[in-house]
Amino acid sequence: MDKNKAPQNEAEFDAFIEREKARGTNFVTVIGGEPSLMLHRLKKLQNNFFTTVVTNGVNKIPFDGFEKLTIAVSVWGDHETDKRLRGNGKTDVFAKGLENYKKDPRAGWYYTTTPGNAQEIESVVEQCVANGNFVVPNFYGDITSVGADVDHHRGFDEVRDELNRMIDRYPDKILATSYMIEVITAGQMYDQKWGYEVCGSITFDNEKNRERVKNGNPFNSHFRAYNPDLISTRRCCVGEDRDCSNCYDLWAHFSWLMLNMKRHLGSKQEFTNWLTSVYIFYILNGFINLDEGIKLLPEIHRRVGNKNQILQMAMPS
Ligand code: SF4
Repeated sequence: MDKNKAPQNEAEFDAFIEREKARGTNFVTVIGGEPSLMLHRLKKLQNNFFTTVVTNGVNKIPFDGFEKLTIAVSVWGDHETDKRLRGNGKTDVFAKGLENYKKDPRAGWYYTTTPGNAQEIESVVEQCVANGNFVVPNFYGDITSVGADVDHHRGFDEVRDELNRMIDRYPDKILATSYMIEVITAGQMYDQKWGYEVCGSITFDNEKNRERVKNGNPFNSHFRAYNPDLISTRRCCVGEDRDCSNCYDLWAHFSWLMLNMKRHLGSKQEFTNWLTSVYIFYILNGFINLDEGIKLLPEIHRRVGNKNQILQMAMPS
């Protein structure tokens, strides 16, 4: 799509940075294509904003000069599943990422779990933790109708249970609470059902969202999802025409949770569920000193509590 090509010269890229600074942006997420192929631009971003970059992990982003980046390394399952889903059945992308980000304090695994492969979760988490990294759970929406073990219609109950078991086992390594996992996998938060009408991760001034921003549900009034040209925007953080019914995206759900503090004011436990979600977002993206934030993770998981309490909080009564 020529009209959406990335800026061809640095002056255009620099102008984008200046425009964003001028409108008050302090945080950017870089996703799509493979950002590690444009290191000089990543460096400019990290020098001006809190910057989180999502990478497939195949190319190592050097440490020197890129210390301030937060790096989310993608994995979609254990080696065979990951290879099947991302590596054309040939390339062991997960193995490459483990090698490149061993003991790298900037790196966390953005683990997109698939509904029929819950039995792999323990092994994947063990490998990531043994590699000296954190794990951030995400959930697969089967947008290309692969079906079978990755079909989201199967539901994420087993995945959720297994992730909760991993939280118990590695409370200082899993950057998502049981509450967050429940809200995302159930697609329900109090009286709201997940979908476009409540999603807050939309470009506030994109024409496609003109009616949505008037419906009374909160949205991020600063957020823009830019196309590669860094001028035009798309509807939301995951795409232009993505079917919201199969969107299990962690980042989008983060904003749903964070923008809905008022729904969580019914009790100390409910407010704790909200506050810990926000805090984890802050740890994840480098707003809080990582070492300090991580120290609190086991206590965060302890305070959020067990799954049964959480189910009652997240669901309508
Ligand atoms: S696809 Fe996901 S992020 Fe995009 S508008 Fe729909 S629910 Fe929100």
